[in-house]
Amino acid sequence: MANIVVLGAGVSGLTTALQLARNGNNNITIVAKHMPGDYDIEYASPWAGANYLPVGAPGSNHKNFEINTWPELSRLASDHPEVGIHFQEARVFRRAKDAGSATAQWFAELLKEDAWFKEVVPNFKVLPQSELPPGMDGGTSFTSVCINTALYLPWLASQCLKLGVKLRRGIATHVADAADMHHSGKRADLVVNCTGLSSLYLGGVEDTALYPGRGQIVLVRNEAPHMYSTSGTDDGSDEAMYIMHRAAGGGCILGGCMQAGNWESQPDPSLATRIMKRCVDICPELVPEGKGIEGLSIVRHGVGLRPMRKGSIRVEREIISGVAVVHNYGHGGYGYQTSYGAAQEAERLVKEALKEKPRL
Ligand code: FAD
Repeated sequence: MANIVVLGAGVSGLTTALQLARNGNNNITIVAKHMPGDYDIEYASPWAGANYLPVGAPGSNHKNFEINTWPELSRLASDHPEVGIHFQEARVFRRAKDAGSATAQWFAELLKEDAWFKEVVPNFKVLPQSELPPGMDGGTSFTSVCINTALYLPWLASQCLKLGVKLRRGIATHVADAADMHHSGKRADLVVNCTGLSSLYLGGVEDTALYPGRGQIVLVRNEAPHMYSTSGTDDGSDEAMYIMHRAAGGGCILGGCMQAGNWESQPDPSLATRIMKRCVDICPELVPEGKGIEGLSIVRHGVGLRPMRKGSIRVEREIISGVAVVHNYGHGGYGYQTSYGAAQEAERLVKEALKEKPRL
C-alpha cells in the first residue's frame, strides 16, 4: 500500500482522491484548510455554477480533460440522482461586436458554430435566427449538465470515506511538509498538490503563472428553463452573462464576470444589479410576467476566485525537497468540467512516480 497525501479538498483534490482510491491500492489522507460545507474566498469550488461549457483550446491538455470528463458527469446525471447533477440544455449566444473582448476570448471555443465538442455532448445544433434573443447574431445549443455543488462536494467526500480515505483539516506552508500529515503517522510516499490558487504562495511550488479570475454571482430561487451564456455584455469587457439552474433545489446561479488579477472577496452591489438586469433581459421567464429584477428571490450574493493559470492547467510531477509530488491545479473557470480527465492524468503520474520511488 502506498501512503498518499492529497493536499486540498476542492473538486480537484476530492476527485483525484476518489480516482486513486477506486483504482489503486492506496492508503490516502486528504489534508485541507477548507472542506465541503465551508464558504471562503480561498476555496473556489463551492462558488461554481457549475456546468459543462467546454472552452479548451485544440491541442491543450485542458481540451483532453474536458473530453474525458463528460462521460462520467453524464453517467452520474443519468443514473445517480443522489449526486446532485442534472442534464440541462445550454444555449450560447454570440454578438459580432464582442469579438476580441475578454469574455469572447474566454469563450472562443464555446462560441464556434463548428465547435470541437459537438462530437462529445448530445444534441449540438446551431440555433435559427427565430430562437435568438434580440441583439444576438448567432448561437448554438446542446445538452449539458448543471451540478449542485452544495450536494456534489459532500457526495465526493463521502464516496472517498466509503473507500477508506481519511479526511483531516490542516495547513501546509510547504508542499513537502504535507508528507508528514498522513493519518498513519508515517511519512507519505507521495503528495498530490490540489491547492488551486494557493499554489501561488505554497512553499516549494510558488507558481507565478497563477492569478485570480474573480467571479461574482447571485444565487436566486427563481427557475430558468435552460442555461444561457453570451459572448459579452455592454457593461465592460470583463463582465459576463450566464444563467444556470442547479439540480435538486440548488437554486439558479446568475453570473457574472471574469476579473483578472482582482482579489476582492466582497460582492460589489452595483455589479450585482447589472448581473440581475442582464439575466432578466435575456431570460424574462426568470421572473413573473411584467416584473424586472424585483421579481428575483435572492438566496445569497457570492464571490469566488477562479484559479487561472497562464499556459494551462498544471498536471505534472516533480520531486520537491526529496518528496515525490504530483500537481493538479490551475483549473481556472473549468475545474468541474475537467475534473475527471485531470484526475485520471494525475493518477497516471502517481503510478509512474510510485514505480520509480522505492517504498520507505
Ligand atoms: P479549490 O476549490 O480552491 O480548493 C483548494 C483546496 O486546497 C481547498 O480545500 C483549500 O483549503 C486547500 N488548500 C489550499 N492551500 C492549502 C494549504 N496550504 N494547506 C492545506 N490546504 C490548502 N468550473 C466549471 O467546471 N464549471 C463552472 O460552471 C464553473 N463556474 C465557476 C463560477 C465561479 C464564480 C467560480 C469562482 C468558479 C467556477 N468554476 C467552474 C471553476 C471551479 O470552481 C474551479 O476551477 C475549481 O473549483 C477549482 O477547484 P480546486 O479544487 O482546484 O481548488
